[in-house]
Amino acid sequence: METGGNSLPSGPDGVKRKVSYFYDPEVGNYYYGQGHPMKPHRIRMTHALLAHYGLLQHMHVLKPNPAREKDLCRFHADDYVSFLKSITPETQQDQLRQLKRFNVGEDCPVFDGLYPFCQTYAGGSVGGAVKLNHGHCDIAINWAGGLHHAKKCEASGFCYVNDIVLAILELLKVHERVLYVDIDIHHGDGVEEAFYTTDRVMTVSFHKFGDYFPGTGDVRDVGYGKGKYYSLNVPLDDGIDDESYQSLFKPIMGKVMEIFKPGAVVLQCGADSLSGDRLGCFNLSIKGHAECVKFMRSFNVPLLLLGGGGYTIRNVARCWCYETGVALGIELDDKMPQHEYYEYFGPDYTLHVAASNMENKNSWHLLEDIRAKLLDYLSKLQHAPSVQFQERPPDTDIQEADEDQVGEDERWDPVSDMDIDDQRRPLPSRVKTEFLETEAKDMVDNMKEDEHNREAESRHSQGPLA
Ligand SMILES: [Zn+2]
Repeated sequence: METGGNSLPSGPDGVKRKVSYFYDPEVGNYYYGQGHPMKPHRIRMTHALLAHYGLLQHMHVLKPNPAREKDLCRFHADDYVSFLKSITPETQQDQLRQLKRFNVGEDCPVFDGLYPFCQTYAGGSVGGAVKLNHGHCDIAINWAGGLHHAKKCEASGFCYVNDIVLAILELLKVHERVLYVDIDIHHGDGVEEAFYTTDRVMTVSFHKFGDYFPGTGDVRDVGYGKGKYYSLNVPLDDGIDDESYQSLFKPIMGKVMEIFKPGAVVLQCGADSLSGDRLGCFNLSIKGHAECVKFMRSFNVPLLLLGGGGYTIRNVARCWCYETGVALGIELDDKMPQHEYYEYFGPDYTLHVAASNMENKNSWHLLEDIRAKLLDYLSKLQHAPSVQFQERPPDTDIQEADEDQVGEDERWDPVSDMDIDDQRRPLPSRVKTEFLETEAKDMVDNMKEDEHNREAESRHSQGPLA
């Protein structure tokens, strides 16, 4: 099938891109439960916007094949995966010890279809990595993925399996070095932890730091052993705007690309860093957020774009739709086309929304200090490490519903993969605040409907977790 992407006119940086986009029409039906801020429906809203903006015809659209148990076990513990596979809302009362052990039940509830949901979002990310490895596309997109908090044997922060770690493991079969960049408002702790002691994966996370979930991501946490200076953290404060954000993102990522020279880049595009997010406290516009995509795309390195957080769902759909356009090199009209979720986007029915006038607590002095620290760390990595790959392990062939995919039964070989958890660092204690945050915001949301409670609302939203 002709994929369309390579016949596009040149993008702003003068290079055509071939894009594979992973979407499962079922994904929007999964439901975390009443009042829970994580809504897989936002993925379906994004897809509807893409369809009505006419972007699907410019991409290779693929239905991900579900990740199998053994695929998930490449990173996750066997007993954790079998727990996810077997637990149901009906049986959970008999499994209280297991629920506690695997941190399932509160932030990460048991819901109908939990396991197939995990298989679907992980299947999209690993499938994207396989497409990139084969050179079938320049950019692969899975907006259902990006669940960066999941740990080897523990759910965390609305994430159950870590599709990002699984996708990076797949990319490492072909690429000596893989770069992970995380622009979600929360620290990309699960991915950082998985690769904390290796120099083959560099992780760079830009996040709110200080009295905020998950509590990790200090600028002084830089990796350990061989991995020292291969984990970078950019701690930010409330209200950061486009200009402040890019004053760090571009110089840091420019230097990372120059020094680390990755063979592939994974960009987690969590949209809870946007202005007006239900759980977030940054002040980025969609264009400011998408500037990160534009910038990483400009290096012409195979790129995997993933979703992540994002709790004001109309803005999540706007953002990921616009960023799909950026991937394709197509600028979208601000006036939104009519579609099935059109009423979500009133009263303006535009793609872009203005950032707010909230205070930016990141002073230029503070930003300059962080930039200098990170550039100093990077200067300690003189040049790309010379890790040589002897042999390419077989691909994971999670098959997509796709006509040009080879049908050979080539399976992945667990013993040929690098072992990433023999030197795991001790777990820092984590403050579980995301659920509390959620409840506080729920309260605020309910109050919003009641004009009489305007004053009380602003008092509640000023809490330490808001
Ligand atoms: Zn987040």
